[in-house]
Amino acid sequence: MEIIIAKNSGLCYGVKRAIQIAKETLSEERGKVFTLGDLIHNPQVIADLEQQGIRSLENLDELKEGTVIIRSHGVSPETYKKIEEKSIKIIDATCPIVKRIQRLVEALAKEEEEIVIVGNKNHPESRGLIGYSQGKGIIIESEAQAKKLSKNKRRAVLVQSTQDMNLFQKVAAALIERTEELKVFNTICQSTQTNQKSTSELASRVDTLFIIGGKNSSNTHKLYQISKRVLPNTHFIENSAQITSEMLKGAKKIGLSGGASTPPEAINEAVVRIKSNFERQIHREKIVQCQS
Ligand code: SF4
Repeated sequence: MEIIIAKNSGLCYGVKRAIQIAKETLSEERGKVFTLGDLIHNPQVIADLEQQGIRSLENLDELKEGTVIIRSHGVSPETYKKIEEKSIKIIDATCPIVKRIQRLVEALAKEEEEIVIVGNKNHPESRGLIGYSQGKGIIIESEAQAKKLSKNKRRAVLVQSTQDMNLFQKVAAALIERTEELKVFNTICQSTQTNQKSTSELASRVDTLFIIGGKNSSNTHKLYQISKRVLPNTHFIENSAQITSEMLKGAKKIGLSGGASTPPEAINEAVVRIKSNFERQIHREKIVQCQS
């Protein structure tokens, strides 16, 4: 049995940076420290941060004191304003790449009729980006939705940094037919593209593949879909304890990959669990052979 870990899988630059900023904030600030929403989409890391004293708040109304960390996905100008009105200290851990996309939306809002953002409606990054569009932005989740848009003279299309390239290409193609002058900006971040590419390549070389990460992580879901298209025997697990003997039955080459919010420990734990499961299986087979 061989275990191969996808190159470039796991924590991306923006998420590593946000975790580092959160830890530094915790050691420097005297008062309470909060994040608006989970700092990263990974339950184990969030539990760990909470133990160290960082509380995640779902709602801005709950924020009444202390310091708030803006996570890597960024927030809208409206949200910054509301926090400032409460006189609460802001530590901004927005990924610099997301910041660049926010600036792009802001600039496009001055000249375009409509700005299409290909992304998940409920994803914090998309919700934040829409806030920079001066009411000209819409979030499109599928090619079918893009095909329903009216014919426009001018339009721009860009994409949530962790989206699937395949979907972006389809939406852009549908918009070309509906727009006289379309500006296309590929804003999928390099780290996402590299991770998607290496996971897809790995899926074509193995017989079983595990995508490890939080079920609430959009980019981990994308990785799962990409791998599943190539290799139906792909499993989406949140942690190593979810790997069963049934999943490993007959596996000879096993691939592992994780999303931008999957810590290296989660991947290493999966390696250990697969190895121990495999050793148990060999042991059982030897007993059966001896008895026959
Ligand atoms: S996926 Fe890319 S854009 Fe998003 S936080 Fe990570 S490095 Fe930044």
